[in-house]
Amino acid sequence: MTTRDFHLSVVIPVFNEAGNIQPLLTRLMQTVDKYRYEIIFVDDGSTDTTIQEIKDECAHNPHIKLVRFSRNFGHQNALSAGYNFAKGDCVVSIDADLQDPPELIDQMIDAWQKGLHIVYAHRKSRTKESVFKRLTARLFYWFINQVSEVPIPTEVGDYRLIDKKVVRYLNDLPEYARFLRGLVAWSGYLTGYVSFDRSPRHSGTTHYPLRKMISFAVTGITAFSTKPLRVVIYFGFIIATLGLMGMFYAFIRRFLLPHEYWVTGWTALFVSITFFSGVQIVILGVIGEYIGRIFTQTQGRPLYLVDETVNIER
Ligand code: UDP
Ligand code: MG
Repeated sequence: MTTRDFHLSVVIPVFNEAGNIQPLLTRLMQTVDKYRYEIIFVDDGSTDTTIQEIKDECAHNPHIKLVRFSRNFGHQNALSAGYNFAKGDCVVSIDADLQDPPELIDQMIDAWQKGLHIVYAHRKSRTKESVFKRLTARLFYWFINQVSEVPIPTEVGDYRLIDKKVVRYLNDLPEYARFLRGLVAWSGYLTGYVSFDRSPRHSGTTHYPLRKMISFAVTGITAFSTKPLRVVIYFGFIIATLGLMGMFYAFIRRFLLPHEYWVTGWTALFVSITFFSGVQIVILGVIGEYIGRIFTQTQGRPLYLVDETVNIER
């Protein structure tokens, strides 16, 4: 029998999840009420009745807390805020849409009490999600693991338990563009897994449309690798070598075979100019992406602004 003499924090980022608050709490409560717990909802600028739903719950349970952002700052920033406010010895982050079964928290806590500092909920199957989402996710994790210096776990989302020392490390990080899955892995603390089958969303639709997925992927890749810059250099060498070969060819034809009539080649010129201009713009774009990251980092803006808190004493 393990001790229950610890404090559990559950962090839930929410963005327009009105239909999910009640069902989530009903299920979550059955798991957490055997512990000393707090549930921190981080409202990421919802415009529906989410805030009211949460406030109603806060009114008759002081362990349910709300941190409300002034606007939408994004899922990763909402999670970061949750870690900032969490007081627990371990912190579980979970999505609000019941795609992550709250019942798994018991197993995560068991693993944590055996000495692990990071316990991921591993998605054994995602058959209830769209083929597109699964394929793009697989492609992204394959790619990022090709380029990243530290392995980033696959089939793992932001449903995990972390020890308070991992929370402290995350809170002290000055990094602006946060890719928390990578940052948690980067810390290298003792890691374990528990498995589950991912369910469909309880209510509403995903807040990760393709545009946000791409931006998330680019943040992850640029935050964890400078290899794209190196690939661009290799590419430049290959193109320069081709150019050099073309130059020799042109010289030889022009000077060693001057009697030959030689004005054809417009197509070759046109194709190579347009192709290589495109290549250069892509290369500039890759460099620009890294410069943009430096720029936002040097601006030093806060990750989020809190407009209001409920049941949180500071
Ligand atoms: N979320 C958020 N801010 C956002 C987008 C999403 O706080 O800008 C929350 C959302 O309410 C949910 C979690 O992040 O609790 C995961 O989002 P979602 O379920 O839409 O992502 P998916 O499961 O489709 O990847
Ligand atoms: Mg979801």
